[in-house]
Amino acid sequence: MRVKVLGSAAGGGFPQWNCQCPNCSGLRRGSLKARPRTQTQVIFSPDSKIWFLLCASPDLRQQVLSARELAPPEDSSPSPIAGVFLPSADVDSVMGLLHLREFQSFFVFATRGVQCALQKENRIFRVLERSNPPVKWQTLSSKGRLGCHLTEDSSGPADFICTTLPLGGCYPDYVSEETLSALPPDEATIGFVMEQGDKRLFFAPSLSGSSGAWRSIAETSDIVFIDGTFWSDDELMRTGRSRKSACEIGHLPLSGPGGLLEQFPANAKGRKILIHINNTNPILDEKSAEHRVVLDAGFEIAYDGMELEL
Ligand SMILES: [Zn+2]
Repeated sequence: MRVKVLGSAAGGGFPQWNCQCPNCSGLRRGSLKARPRTQTQVIFSPDSKIWFLLCASPDLRQQVLSARELAPPEDSSPSPIAGVFLPSADVDSVMGLLHLREFQSFFVFATRGVQCALQKENRIFRVLERSNPPVKWQTLSSKGRLGCHLTEDSSGPADFICTTLPLGGCYPDYVSEETLSALPPDEATIGFVMEQGDKRLFFAPSLSGSSGAWRSIAETSDIVFIDGTFWSDDELMRTGRSRKSACEIGHLPLSGPGGLLEQFPANAKGRKILIHINNTNPILDEKSAEHRVVLDAGFEIAYDGMELEL
């Protein structure tokens, strides 16, 4: 399986257009040793021809254009993009669907709760129905296993298996109280395990920390993309970006007691890669002590253009 990171930042990207935190200001001035980053987007291909998207980032158009693998073939056969897996209904995870509205059919894999949040409250996503045939919504359970085939003939063994697990986040603020009351809480934010043969890719860019079910999967996966949003729980308050803590908005911080660095299984066998990094996070500064701490703990920090194989 080939895997590529097209975007590695949290919502807003890095730098964020309206942010004057030390990171964003330093990057604009050129005084910070750091890479700019677009909003989180990962793609994978089980056969190096057909590609699937993990998330549909607000930066998707630019990201697709930057990835030669995703260019439509010269022979008028269909786009290599076959489907999109949505971990949540957050704006950062779904806005890119609107960039894919150009009369192209593809699969969208999401829980019923996420589909409901998008389709009931946001008529704008109906633009996806203009293609013929329309975009095909596939319902995922928050704790399930789905065999996926790359061809229409699904009689043989699956080409890869998608396992889902609930990660304990909330539905986005834009969902009305009325809709919210009917949505199952454990379908709000899910993680994906993409399994091909004996190899496993785990994608969990938003980890609330309310459940520990992710730990055994992180331990046994070959590549783990995991929530690197915030370094500390009070980061948004200290940088004046919000009055809410990291935990309150559904992200386990990296540092501190009970933080991700402490909770990540010590004997994990695969590569562990921090992704969805907020522009306020000091690990983005390549000369910072925090950057050094995560590298010394054996983590990698995702960057746009990072390519992996498993
Ligand atoms: Zn900033």
